Amino acid sequence: MDVFINILALSGSELAKTDSEKRMIVYLSEKDQITGQGIVGFCITDMPWDKETFSEDKAFMIKVIHGARNKLGWEKLEYQPNEEIVSLYLGNFERLINRMSIEDIRENALNDWLSQADADDPVYNGFPRCKKHGTFLTCLGCQVCNS
Ligand SMILES: [Zn+2]
Repeated sequence: MDVFINILALSGSELAKTDSEKRMIVYLSEKDQITGQGIVGFCITDMPWDKETFSEDKAFMIKVIHGARNKLGWEKLEYQPNEEIVSLYLGNFERLINRMSIEDIRENALNDWLSQADADDPVYNGFPRCKKHGTFLTCLGCQVCNS
């Protein structure tokens, strides 16, 4: 089930403007492990939240979810996502993000994640994008190309 991350990456890559927003989308694109029943396979408190920009970044994530629901960037996919399944995943993810508060941010989540990246990692190199999909690259390349 890479579909859920594919569409979040497409929507998020069109909407992200600040570095903290771009980091969120790169993080998501690295996590393409999704378990069944519409549950995301990672803990949202481990996302690279920055306490300084938390409320903006949370609002951004909700916008990304709405973008994905409105098929933002779907024309770049070579398949047609199942709208019913996608809507279930997006609804669950939106509820989790809505419940997230600044107190939930795991201490050092951002620094821990950044410290795992090499100097040539996209997060340290101006957030390059996939030429085909326009999505932010991760250390593994383009999440949409790879899925
Ligand atoms: Zn690509």
